[in-house]
Amino acid sequence: MKEKMEFKTETKRLLDLMINSIYTHKEIFLRELISNASDAIDKRHYLSLTDSTKAADAYEILVEADKEARTLTITDNGVGMTKADLIDHLGTIAKSGSKEFLEKIANEKTPDVDIIGQFGVGFYSAFMVAKEITVYTKSVADGTAHVFTSLGLDSYDIDVCDKKDFGTQIVISLRENTEDINYDEYLDEYQIKELIKKYSDYVRYPIKTWVTKYDEKKDDKDEEEHTHLELETINSMLPIWKKNKSEITDEELNNFYKSKFMDYQDPITTIHVNVEGMLTYNALLFIPKKPIYDFNDRNERGLQLYTKGVFILDKCKDLIPEYLRFVKGLVDSADLPLNISREMLQEDRSIKKIATNVEKKILAELGRMLKNDREKYEEFFNDYGVNLKFGLYEEYGAKKDSLKDLIILSSLNQEKRISFAEYKEAMIEGQKDIYYAVGKDKDAVLKLPQMDLIKNKGYDVLILTDDVDEFMLQVLSEYDGVKFKSINQGDLDLIDEEAAKKIDDLKEEKKDILEDIKKALPECKDVIFSKRLVEAPCCLSAAEGLSFEMERVLQAQHQGHGMKAERILEINPNHAVFKAMETAYEKDKESLSKYAKLLYTQALLMEGILPTDPQEFSNSLCEFMVNSVK
Ligand code: ADP
Repeated sequence: MKEKMEFKTETKRLLDLMINSIYTHKEIFLRELISNASDAIDKRHYLSLTDSTKAADAYEILVEADKEARTLTITDNGVGMTKADLIDHLGTIAKSGSKEFLEKIANEKTPDVDIIGQFGVGFYSAFMVAKEITVYTKSVADGTAHVFTSLGLDSYDIDVCDKKDFGTQIVISLRENTEDINYDEYLDEYQIKELIKKYSDYVRYPIKTWVTKYDEKKDDKDEEEHTHLELETINSMLPIWKKNKSEITDEELNNFYKSKFMDYQDPITTIHVNVEGMLTYNALLFIPKKPIYDFNDRNERGLQLYTKGVFILDKCKDLIPEYLRFVKGLVDSADLPLNISREMLQEDRSIKKIATNVEKKILAELGRMLKNDREKYEEFFNDYGVNLKFGLYEEYGAKKDSLKDLIILSSLNQEKRISFAEYKEAMIEGQKDIYYAVGKDKDAVLKLPQMDLIKNKGYDVLILTDDVDEFMLQVLSEYDGVKFKSINQGDLDLIDEEAAKKIDDLKEEKKDILEDIKKALPECKDVIFSKRLVEAPCCLSAAEGLSFEMERVLQAQHQGHGMKAERILEINPNHAVFKAMETAYEKDKESLSKYAKLLYTQALLMEGILPTDPQEFSNSLCEFMVNSVK
């Protein structure tokens, strides 16, 4: 006997939304119904493990279109539903995803329907395309068969029915086509195949549909095309990432990568992770040979997320840290509900764990590459090294320990780029620190006046070329107990005690002239005799803290609010220029300021910093030129 039942209020609201939905991806309903079918088969299979009478010979999901009747039918031989199940599960919203969706839009007059896809509202999503839904189901639990029908309005009907096999059959009567929407497309053989492939390719059970086959012509005179229909399995079922590593060839992986992520080149490397235990998941990760065009678009980052082979989300950001955004790939987890939303993902503990693991695996693979295939690593680093540097710098260096050994930098003494460990290894006896200089290449660095002593000593110097480099070294501050030192910041400790004392004494002796030079240069924090110059007359160094390079980077990014590196003018007391200044100072104390400014401007220019008053610099230089021939 037919019984009429009212939907609960919240179900009505959801249905109303589905029916009036202008959501553009209505097609997801098929994914939802197929995964319900797959879950139902899982349940039956599970029951059959302890009760073999409940087993089916073979499990399958059938998708059939009837163009004349305009129906789409999805049939499974899963557990089926009892009458109570129909009322509890289809008459009521039990799903957290649907509930959450409703809560989210509760106060919105015109809800953003685009989020429906993310919430995966399950069975009800079929009302986006259906004018009526009929569910025939026979329960393995009690052997009863029922039919549920609904127009998706206020109520549904339940009645007993005859059904031969256990399982569920859902018949969707499609809505009439409108000007904008052609519902008939869901009856199209090609479209059905596409949707199954796209969303449900890795469902564990065969998803079959009727496919047109072309018959061979009987003879040449036969002009008609003869076809027949065959039931064909559309999904590939076992995803490549679920296979054993030993069963897949590199070529298969490369082909999979290229077709899935639309690249024409093989990836530099592939990382295949199969984890079983407390947390069960598979991950397949690729580093593209060249950055894919969207790589710098932060919104494009993320891995694809599957749960039990069902596609859930593209570009799931929570699976991969920002600095590894160049990695493409997917994660398939057995522990996530199908209806997980982006919001829930952020909070999800298993996602967090997977993300941590994925990050570890990628870094481990990079470490291996650095060790075993240096050339490949260098190629990788050319394109993506700057990302690792940012990763190290960001979050106050939270990741520095896992990243520091993956950084390679150019150096003065070596042809190839070297790691910090390699630098340390090659340190000369007596060398206390790891030196670095900012410059575009070796030549530029070699020309720096500050290099005099270091060059003589034969110490290697790391050459920083990326904007982020110096910030990264600041965050690190040391490697394995050895400090990083900029060649133009602070005391380099390059000369022996005796020589140092000599300079200190000299400083005392020439206190007056040093002080007067400083007075002439209000921009300068200090004027000192240099402990690093040999050939050059002077150089500029920065006090501890901000360096000139960092000042430049921050200004270019409009950050740092006009923060400046503190300038220290270092003078070589043994240079003829200083001697000349002294002579001039003895003759006429007033003349000193001009010399001081000229010297300081030169030091600025060597550092690549423009003088604040170039006019003044030019004028006084001209004056000197004229005077020199008088
Ligand atoms: P979800 O599948 O996320 O729980 P749905 O609204 O899609 O949410 O389905 C609600 C419930 O209805 C399911 O949990 C399941 O118990 C039942 N159900 C839906 N489809 C089927 C089916 N094909 N066979 C058996 N039970 C089903």
